[in-house]
Amino acid sequence: MHLGPALTSTLDLIDRWRKEDTYPFFPVVSEAAATRAVIRSGRQDAGSRAEQRVTVLASADYLGIGHHPDVLRGATDAVRRFGTNTYGTQAVGGFTVLHHALEEAVAAHFARPAALLFPTGMQANLGVLATLAGPGDTVLSDQFSHGSIVMGARLSGADTRTFRHNDAEHLDRLLADVTTGRRLVVVDGLYSAHGDLAPLADLAEVAERHDALLVVDEAHSGGALGENGRGAAELLAVEDRVHVVTGTFSKAFASTGGFVCAGERVIDALRHSAGAYLLSLGLPPATVGAALAAVGVVRREGADRRAALARNARTLRSLLHRAHVDTADSAAHVVVVPTGLVDRTARIARALARQGLLVTPLLPPAVPIGAARLRLGVTAGHTDEDLALAARLVAAALAHDPR
Ligand code: PMP
Repeated sequence: MHLGPALTSTLDLIDRWRKEDTYPFFPVVSEAAATRAVIRSGRQDAGSRAEQRVTVLASADYLGIGHHPDVLRGATDAVRRFGTNTYGTQAVGGFTVLHHALEEAVAAHFARPAALLFPTGMQANLGVLATLAGPGDTVLSDQFSHGSIVMGARLSGADTRTFRHNDAEHLDRLLADVTTGRRLVVVDGLYSAHGDLAPLADLAEVAERHDALLVVDEAHSGGALGENGRGAAELLAVEDRVHVVTGTFSKAFASTGGFVCAGERVIDALRHSAGAYLLSLGLPPATVGAALAAVGVVRREGADRRAALARNARTLRSLLHRAHVDTADSAAHVVVVPTGLVDRTARIARALARQGLLVTPLLPPAVPIGAARLRLGVTAGHTDEDLALAARLVAAALAHDPR
């Protein structure tokens, strides 16, 4: 079958990486604890079963609650009560009291009137954008917005415009050109491939001046930033200027699944017309039970865990700086280390895994061409020894493989 030039060149690259033993993706995990895992370490093309114990800096369990006893109990109790699946879409029978309770809990957590659950955070973004915008409208997003925002904007059929990263003045100029239809401005609260925060106060000011809705994806910031864990909008004191919050339970909330928090009418509109919601079955009970318990843990223990997370992020950044490793614009717990070229990034990520450190290589299209990087996902659960090991190994790997 002819796959076309783009897919063929991707497959050629992957084949070469497998042969060179630098392929860094899909590590096969056979054991996982909070910040430790065991992965298969052998050459993938040789079918090796050799194993390697690694320290994980590639997770988004930012508050370190993925193995919290309350969260484990939330999942297992839900399975005992409802089984492993729901027997229909949420609209016609798959909406349990747990789903209902989680909607209420996540709305309360983000101090919003209402919330809607989606199978994934990606679908939450698709659902919001494709439902709230349509042909004749305009969706304006940051050039580094998550791929699901880009896809949602396209799916909506609206005009799509991209403003320069974190550039409120550019957004202002683009909005000045939009004369008809609804305007939606969509940004990430914390950029997962750049590590910096959106300048939400400036963006809100521009959005208000042009009568645009402001949608903020708090995937990496929800639970993890702000005095009460309500994310970047809380941290930057602009919650009342953000109309819609999207997010995921797959990071600080230690489960999976997406959500949208907004006013009652917006949520009712999404509930009854978002294809990304209605066309998939609801989340499985274990996932909902875990997320519901996690929201409770975040409420009770979040302040201490967020303080530990911020401390660990600061420690890792300063250890890296002391070892002369650049962390670009990283401002929080997503610590980004520029590596430049794709091949070098793959080699370094694979070498680090072999030495016992799992990090995330970020390659185009997730980042600009020539600007590949490693992402080090700090959590509240990392020890000072973990962070020292990470900084030492990353600095040595960069020095060993100069650009
Ligand atoms: N938004 C952002 C900013 C993300 O980084 C991600 C996933 N990594 C998502 C949305 C999608 O979340 P999910 O994994 O729940 O689909």
